[in-house]
Amino acid sequence: MKREEVFNFSAGPSVLPRPALERAAAEMLNYNGSGMSVMEMSHRSKFFQEIFDSTKAKLKAALNVPDSHEILFLQGGASAQFSMVPLNLMEGGTADYAVTGNFANIACKEARKYGTVHVAADTLRAPLACIPGQSELDLSPDAKYFYYCANNTIYGTAWGYVPETAAPLVCDMSSEILSRPVDVSRYGLIFAGAQKNMAPAGVTVVLIDKALAGHEAPYTPLMMSYKTMIDKDSMYNTPPCWCIYMLGLVLDWLQTQGGVAGMEAIKHEKASIIYDIIDNSRLYRPCARREDRSDMNVTFRTGDADLDAAFAKEAQAQGLMNLKGHRSVGGLRASLYNAQPMEGVQALAAFMKKFEVEHHV
Ligand SMILES: *Cc1c(COP(=O)(O)O)cnc(C)c1O
Repeated sequence: MKREEVFNFSAGPSVLPRPALERAAAEMLNYNGSGMSVMEMSHRSKFFQEIFDSTKAKLKAALNVPDSHEILFLQGGASAQFSMVPLNLMEGGTADYAVTGNFANIACKEARKYGTVHVAADTLRAPLACIPGQSELDLSPDAKYFYYCANNTIYGTAWGYVPETAAPLVCDMSSEILSRPVDVSRYGLIFAGAQKNMAPAGVTVVLIDKALAGHEAPYTPLMMSYKTMIDKDSMYNTPPCWCIYMLGLVLDWLQTQGGVAGMEAIKHEKASIIYDIIDNSRLYRPCARREDRSDMNVTFRTGDADLDAAFAKEAQAQGLMNLKGHRSVGGLRASLYNAQPMEGVQALAAFMKKFEVEHHV
């Protein structure tokens, strides 16, 4: 298939803005007169240092990151943060976890190795995927931090509010970062794997309140210490150079689209087109509670696993790719990240209507 014939709804790695890919292609063999690809140059070179600094500055501007917070570019995926957060912030004490999805659940289990985990909320067994309200959060008085996942990529739910807690907030924003403005100053730490809404897989962005660093457990691996990475400006070792470069290109594109405010203005509109079809359908059913639905990952099902499979297969034949739900929950999922164009959403909507007419009993 030609790229023009495809709309990619993958949950991650996911679609990237075409202008960013085109620029990367144009600069692939010779970056800015260096005679080298970004993939081939020293991370200590003037060329790369400039890419690094400008990407960091663009991210700082895009998310309005205050000076109290450091921006880190780390490796190991978002999953490495499941260990790094408790290793650095738990100090052998208690941490509160809100378990609202698969990744929060993994993070919660991992943290048990390093201290006392208090489950502040657990919605995993709710019949419709949902997010707890503020009054439903069971907060412990002495928590070192409160951990939650802002957008549950697999379940298709999103926190519509920032929890009020005495403890610093730690938030996994992997599947929604850069889709809306965030008051970073309200968080102790935000992290996000890049491959959902930022860049290719390989870099994880961490925004950390510098006051929280330097209290890691004594056995913390060097590479997993926020303090090491802050002191060395993410270059204790070789950083994921290519991904940082790509993030810079994506941030350039984002700016042409009105930045995170521009993304926020259209994300709900995009998602509503698909949710409206689901809500007015006799075939499709939502997987998430209405008030907790994610604009990034729209989850639904027909109630018949074979029909779900037929949907994904027929959609793929028409260039609508990666609509199968995560293997742990089944069903269907359309990921509508920043780089998903409105035309992709409309093409999916048209397909859903046609499929319903053809298949509903
Ligand atoms: C994809 C994802 C992860 C895991 O990311 P990796 O980079 O594969 O480790 C964690 N949290 C959320 C919310 C995700 O969407």
